[in-house]
Amino acid sequence: ADSLGAAWAVDWLRRSADVVAANRVALSELDRAIGDGDHGENLDRGYQAIVEKLDAETPATPAAAFKLAAMTLMSKVGGAAGPLYGTAFLRMATATGEAATLDAAALAGALAAARDGVVARGKAEVGDKTMIDAWTPAVEAATAAAAGPSASAGSVLAAAAAAAEAGAESTDPLIAHKGRASYLGERAIGHRDPGAASSALILRAAAEAAGA
Ligand code: ADP
Ligand code: MG
Ligand code: MG
Repeated sequence: ADSLGAAWAVDWLRRSADVVAANRVALSELDRAIGDGDHGENLDRGYQAIVEKLDAETPATPAAAFKLAAMTLMSKVGGAAGPLYGTAFLRMATATGEAATLDAAALAGALAAARDGVVARGKAEVGDKTMIDAWTPAVEAATAAAAGPSASAGSVLAAAAAAAEAGAESTDPLIAHKGRASYLGERAIGHRDPGAASSALILRAAAEAAGA
């Protein structure tokens, strides 16, 4: 599709809820290795609450869906990831405003705004072994795809998802410099960052909701 509307945004959130539920145990196992073992439970609680709200009300714009997600994640998820993901969705809502549909450039811009929000809140840089190691390559790939000759909404999201997956894998050998995993020093080496892993799952869900 050349541009994506509220139905895509709702489908993204519902697919995210499905993939987070399916990976709840795996994400918490990643967090058990280098954190406190709750990342999958935290996110699953948040996304199930999002689905309950979507069953009760239908957002009219992508921004309305993002705002619903932001408020729910901030109030239900807790820990480090709740406010960070909440900020990501809130910034996407602000970036997309009243738009009924989002084209390739608007999607790349929304992802960049989300990433910038996570950085503003958590102060992580690439290489700190956080969700930013998934988000920043995703934004770079999305921006490049949006500027390319065959840019489409789906190609932007597919590029973001692939880069986020590679970025999550890239956290395996790293020492963490933010969050609970930073207390472990070299013992974090060899473990994937759970927030980078969940970010890759969620960005893949965005592409799949676009049929890409
Ligand atoms: P908590 O660590 O409070 O239990 P979660 O387990 O839900 O929270 O989330 C942990 C994830 O949050 C980490 O894997 C990491 O990706 C992300 N994270 C933690 N601190 C930061 C930060 N300052 N900036 C970006 N991401 C962070
Ligand atoms: Mg945790
Ligand atoms: Mg915790």
